[in-house]
Amino acid sequence: ASSITGRRRSASWCGVISHARFNSSFSLAAGEASFLEAVDIYFDKAAKLAASTPDILNQIKACNNLLKLQFPLKRLDGTVQLIEAYRAQHSHHRLPVKGGIRMAPNVEANETMALAALMTFKCAVVDIPFGGAKGGIKVDPTKYSPIEKEAIIRRYTSELVKKSFIGPALDVPAPDYGTGPQEMAWIKDTYEQLRSDINGSACVTGKPLEEGGIHGRQESTGLGVFFCLREFFTNQEYMKSLGLDLGIKGKSFIVQGFGNVGRHTSTFVQAAGGRVIAIAELDGGLVDETGIGLDIAQIQRYQAQNGTISGFPKAKTVLETSHLLELPCDVLIPAALESQIHAGNATRIQARIIAEAANGPVTPAAEKILEERGVVILPDLLLNAGGVTVSYFEWLKNLNHIHFGRMSRRMEEHGKQEFLNAIEHQFGNGHKLSEDVRRLLVKGNTEADFVSSGLEETMLVSWEKVRNTAKQRGCNLRTAAYLIAIERIATCYRLSGIFP
Ligand code: GLU
Repeated sequence: ASSITGRRRSASWCGVISHARFNSSFSLAAGEASFLEAVDIYFDKAAKLAASTPDILNQIKACNNLLKLQFPLKRLDGTVQLIEAYRAQHSHHRLPVKGGIRMAPNVEANETMALAALMTFKCAVVDIPFGGAKGGIKVDPTKYSPIEKEAIIRRYTSELVKKSFIGPALDVPAPDYGTGPQEMAWIKDTYEQLRSDINGSACVTGKPLEEGGIHGRQESTGLGVFFCLREFFTNQEYMKSLGLDLGIKGKSFIVQGFGNVGRHTSTFVQAAGGRVIAIAELDGGLVDETGIGLDIAQIQRYQAQNGTISGFPKAKTVLETSHLLELPCDVLIPAALESQIHAGNATRIQARIIAEAANGPVTPAAEKILEERGVVILPDLLLNAGGVTVSYFEWLKNLNHIHFGRMSRRMEEHGKQEFLNAIEHQFGNGHKLSEDVRRLLVKGNTEADFVSSGLEETMLVSWEKVRNTAKQRGCNLRTAAYLIAIERIATCYRLSGIFP
């Protein structure tokens, strides 16, 4: 294993990208920006408008640490396989750094650094006090048994522990593409086996409820996407410029990816009266232009039973799915991987709005083509920040040793502020509940209430800020989001100064 500290990017790399699920059938055109280059391009565009100095902007842009690991896995058939994995920590202006762990065959250093940078900016846009990080393990999780996956995750975690790349106050992983609550439970357990920190459970978020997770974390990214869409569709100016009537009701949606994010986003959109007319997945997609056949709850049940959405009886199954993104619709929601909408297909996209539930799904070349045609892009930094927002609530819950729901019922009886003071007193040692925990606790009666109202407030405030910034600074929503992030982070860098 090697740890590389400081700036490390390969700015000239723009070869053929072959992605796990949706990219395998195309390659980015020669000269089109790679994912990491794309993040840099978006950053530079906003940096030009930012009230900051070049030395600070350079510090913000650089990926601080990149850990590369290669460790052996003993497979069930007795063979030994070398596993390649990464953890990138992009910016430490706030600690811990935060970001998911991806398991996919296309994982590599540059992708991990790009995703870590997006975490830094995303947290800043929604004002969640974390730096940015990301992890990746280069395997196709569907090709490994649960026992093998557990061994991979535990070894990966132990490497992170040895190298101080994980810890409640250092670096806190979470689920991402190809991982979920079970993997997070293994990470927590491994960490606790190796470290005696009192608050070991705060070393990772997205855990199962029984393991210190929080209600609503699994739905959170999709719910955040929905809250943002809801605000967008009630915005008179945007609707007028797009020639659409107000509200989600009756609008048509195409979703790419029916994993955790795509599933929950579709559920909320459909519950609000939106028409989901196509879903594209790795091994096939579903289409029903009326939207009636694509009952999301039924498709989820079908997927759970059959391991695929293909063949769902109430809609038409298509095996070649790339053209599904190009059907006429109001909103296209990429909810899978990066670089899905690129110079090669952007001209054929007919959606009026692109809602980036995935990280980095639209390349800069595609953005240019789409914007020339008046397509509005709701950027990833804002739109999919619901996941890390609820991760923050989970982390606070773990650090504060709190069960939000149980607390609230007692609070009703005792008066909220008095009860919170009494809790602090009981903890002793001058233990203080953080302001954010206090705010969450006075919000509802169950933990699920706290989570959804806290998430809603976060998304609404952030949407307003992004929208107003775009208007005031005369830029698109993505540049506005980057600009907000850059200016917030620049203040931290300036006030911290340089060590030594
Ligand atoms: N993987 C998610 C993301 O890309 C969540 C990260 C987290 O909760 O730390 O935002």
